[in-house]
Order: sequence, then structure tokens, then C-alpha cells
Amino acid sequence: MLEEKEAKRRILDAASPGAVTWIPLELTLDQVLAQEVTGSVDSPPFDNSSMDGYAVRAAECKTGDSLQVNEEVQAAGLDRGLELLAGEAIRIFTGAPVPAGADAVIMQEDVSREGNVITIVEGVVAGENIRRRGGDVCAGQKLLERGDIMTPARIALLASQGIPEVAVHGKPLVQIVTTGDELVEPGAPLLPGEIYNSNSPMLQTAVTGVGGIAVASHAFDDPEELREVLGAALAAADIVVIAGGVSVGEKDFVKEVLEELGVITEFWKVKIKPGKPFVFGRHPDGTLVFGLPGNPVSAFVTFHVFVAPVIRRSLGDSPEDAAAGVGRTSVVLDEAVENTGDRPHYFRGRTENGKLKLSGTQQSHAIFGLSRANCMLRLDPGVKVEEGTTVKVVLI
Ligand code: AMP
Ligand code: MG
Repeated sequence: MLEEKEAKRRILDAASPGAVTWIPLELTLDQVLAQEVTGSVDSPPFDNSSMDGYAVRAAECKTGDSLQVNEEVQAAGLDRGLELLAGEAIRIFTGAPVPAGADAVIMQEDVSREGNVITIVEGVVAGENIRRRGGDVCAGQKLLERGDIMTPARIALLASQGIPEVAVHGKPLVQIVTTGDELVEPGAPLLPGEIYNSNSPMLQTAVTGVGGIAVASHAFDDPEELREVLGAALAAADIVVIAGGVSVGEKDFVKEVLEELGVITEFWKVKIKPGKPFVFGRHPDGTLVFGLPGNPVSAFVTFHVFVAPVIRRSLGDSPEDAAAGVGRTSVVLDEAVENTGDRPHYFRGRTENGKLKLSGTQQSHAIFGLSRANCMLRLDPGVKVEEGTTVKVVLI
């Protein structure tokens, strides 16, 4: 049985970033930038008002001074090329270009107006309420680096530079293949002996959650059908994730069918609980193949530990970032936890206000406990951690 660390290393060694594609900005959320971005224009591109008020010369705006309001108005939009004459104020609105000759904007709340004359209630100083050209970003400034993760704010930054699309690594197409004669899709009635297929929607959304594109199919425990379904999956997808059928039962045909289809088994069985029956293989055309245990909790844990990093690596994360996972945090144990087994154990737990409790039964079919969990605590074999100890957990 392979050590978990070695299994992870071999899996990540086999993974690489996907081809670079240019995609519209609004479709890049959470993706990894495959290019550096440098500012091409100053932002703001022109001096503009940050308030609704009057463009003025600050020196003419002491409390009690009066100014004649020009009949032209400068609103946001087209720069009307207005020029402020001595003794005058020009009505201006937020975002509008500041007229030549003005050096401040006085808020409308700070003047009183009668007809076309304003009287200053509260004076301004030069520069007040003006957002200077290039005050946020200067042309030529480095804005984002290769490897940066796209967030809504970074998307806004690039949009503000007039950039409609950026280079990212293409999302991997991940085919989920569930297996089992006992499985029924939610929505259909259950016959005696059947259970609902919970792995398929769980794994599809887990794939989407880390940034891949998921498609799903199902095969009964029949070599013929498995050959057809897995053959189609291998032809279509970058990564194939199979759930169930990889153990030692008489109906577990996945391994032999994969081999018939040309997949080279890199390893089978990893020292990790839950999740021992786990297959990693590679097809000569580059498709990576994972066979996860059928038990939903085991499938969930092995997906997070072994498959999610490969999806992040395909998206362009460095091997280190991909291996590190989405997030870790330190919490204080609210109860003692012990791994009495001989494999590293990923306990599922719930942290609230910095405290960690295990979330219900830790059996590998128990989805309710999993649904209550928001993190996993990994303990090596034989390790006992006492209540009150600070431990690191992986957020899920
Ligand atoms: P297997 O690995 O195929 O032997 O399955 C192990 C256990 O997981 C069995 O109890 C299966 O019924 C269950 N199982 C397998 N696939 C799924 C699935 N897609 N959804 C829910 N349970 C499953
Ligand atoms: Mg099965």
C-alpha cells in the first residue's frame, strides 16, 4: 500500500497546466492568470470631481465669499471643455471632468444658492474633491502577475483598463463516472435494495467548486457497459473520476476494464482513511484517471486530497499551491481525538468560533455528518490529541 505523501507526489508529477486560452473577463473568476498585466492607461484618465457641487478656485472660496454660477453645467460623460473664469463657479457632478482653471470642487451642501449666485458656507482648499488623473493607476504600472487568482476586484481592475479578455489556463474537463447496480438517480422511485446516487452530484459540484468543468455518466457493474462508458469518458475528458467498483468485490470491474482500455495503473490502494481502495492511472493520450471508493465520505475525502490538487494544477496553480489546497486554519480541539488505526485518518469536523468538534459518526457512508463538517483534521496513525490542543485543519 502506497504512502499518502508518495501518492500525492506521483499524482502531482503527472499533472500540468492546461493550454493557455483567452477568455472574456467576466468568465475568469477563480482562474489563474497566465499572463502579466501592465497598465496601459492612467486611471482615472482625467482629473474629475468626487462630489456633486461646484468647480471653483479655492482662493476665491473663503466662508462668506460669493461666486456667479456659470450657466453651463459639466456632468459625467462628454468633456464639454469648459473654462472657469475669475469670480465664477461651474455646476459639476460626480465623475465629471474638472473644467480648466478650477482647482477644487466645493460640495453643494457647503454653499447656499440664490438664483445664479452661490455663497460659501464652508470653504475648500486647493485640490479638494478632485480625483487626479493617474491617482489610482499609472500607465506602465504592473497590475497583476502570472499566477494571480482572478477575483471580482481584479476583474474590475482589468475592466477599468479597457481590457476585455485575458489569458488563463483552460479549465480541465472532468468526467465523473459513477458505477453500481444499486444506484438510482434522485427523483426516481427506489426499489428494495437500491440507494440514491449521491456521489455524482457531489463530485460534479466539487469539480466545479475547484474550477473544473464537470460532466457525468453512470455505468452498471457490467464489464461490457463499463468499457463503453469509460471508453467514451477517456476519449472526451482531461481527467476521469470514477466512483465505486475499484475494490476487491466480485463486481468491481473498473481496474480490469481500465487496463483493457490502455490505462496504465500507477498505483492502487493508498494508506489513508477513509479511502483505501483508490486507483490512479494514466492513459497514453494524457488523460489522468482516478478511481475513488464508492462510499460517499471516502469519495469526498479522496477527491479533496488527491483530485482537487490536480484540477488546481491544470488551472495553473504552482505544484506547491495546488498541494496546499484551498485553505487551512488553526483551531482548538473541543474534544480529544485519537487515530487508533494504522493509516493517516482524515477526521471530518466542524469548527465554530475557533473550536473544533468532530461532526457526528466518522463512518464512510455517513453523509449527514459530512454535511455538517466544514473542515478535516488529519492525524497520523497512533496519534492522540487532547482537548484544548491547537491543531491545523483543512477547510472544505
Ligand atoms: P463500491 O466501492 O462500489 O464497492 O461501493 C462501496 C459502497 O459505496 C457501497 O455501499 C455502494 O452502494 C456505495 N456507493 C457506491 N457508489 C455510490 C454512489 N454513486 N452514491 C452513493 N453511494 C454509492
Ligand atoms: Mg459498487
